[in-house]
Amino acid sequence: MTAPIRAKLADGRDLLFFALPGHLPAPVADRRPLPPRVPDQSQLRYDRATGRWVIVAALRQDRTYKPPPDQCPLCPGPTGLTSEVPAPDYDVVVFENRFPSLSGTGAPLGAPSGAGFAAAPGHGRTEVICFSSDHTGSFAQLPPAHARLVVDAWRHRSADLMAAPGIEQVFCFENRGEEIGVTLTHPHGQIYGYPFLTPRTAAMLGQADTHRMCHGDNLFASLLAAEIADGSRIVTRNELFTAFVPFAARWPVEVHIYPNRFVRNIIDLDDAELDAFARLYLDVLGRFDRMYSAPLPYISALHQFAYTEAQAEGYFHVELMSIRRNATKLKYLAASESAMDAFISDVTPESVAERLRGLG
Ligand SMILES: [Zn+2]
Repeated sequence: MTAPIRAKLADGRDLLFFALPGHLPAPVADRRPLPPRVPDQSQLRYDRATGRWVIVAALRQDRTYKPPPDQCPLCPGPTGLTSEVPAPDYDVVVFENRFPSLSGTGAPLGAPSGAGFAAAPGHGRTEVICFSSDHTGSFAQLPPAHARLVVDAWRHRSADLMAAPGIEQVFCFENRGEEIGVTLTHPHGQIYGYPFLTPRTAAMLGQADTHRMCHGDNLFASLLAAEIADGSRIVTRNELFTAFVPFAARWPVEVHIYPNRFVRNIIDLDDAELDAFARLYLDVLGRFDRMYSAPLPYISALHQFAYTEAQAEGYFHVELMSIRRNATKLKYLAASESAMDAFISDVTPESVAERLRGLG
């Protein structure tokens, strides 16, 4: 991959252009009168009852909410007056979020030792990644070479943020669909650099450490092997990646994608694996969109792990989930899920896998 072209937005934020072969990004000056950025825009508060950090980002109340299509801040803005991407066109761009939940640099956070309230500045990084300049498109509709460019951009950002001081975990993700609270319909995702290990990741690594002690091998490799051996929940495979509905799926639609070889993160995938990943990811998203007459709302979460002893058992994979239960109903998190973290699923993982297998 060639290095991205770098530019600056009017308030000093970084903007990176990732281009397909033969395309040369041509950014123009960002001429918007943006207010200067304020440091320490959010706060982290430690919930001593659960051992979890909560991000308090009150300024996000003012963020852009469902703008009309002609005011989309993610469409290219050739005049430099209308958009977060001042350029006549682009393939894939990444820029720092104007309303960041996390910003600035500090030290990684462990569990506070004192007995009182514990808070810390909301250091870290939040970036927006636009998958395409086409306002009405979606990731699933990207040609394979363009999907691979997005994968390359995820990889570039992951390497950059993992090496940044104070960042403990890099999380690339996509939310698609107004049903799950997406406020901008333009196809995009986000990239978070957290200063702490997220609760789900910490729980998974704890399980993996215990598994290693009891069984002597990697938990996720063992789960993948078990899913392949069982076969009833496999959705689709290629020579380098496998997609399946997990045995204990929580969501009405849930698919996990694993590389067949153990790697910690997207940075460690080789060229053939990056191509195979882009292809299988498009394959799964295509099946999602064929499930119902309207595109499936979904969340796609890249689980990546850093090169630290504490994260050594982490196995790179993607978890995709949807709250759509059928053509007309959504699953809302009810008391058991919201209050107790105990999920109740109305469908068997095997029946969902069979349905998705048939949509190839
Ligand atoms: Zn747009």
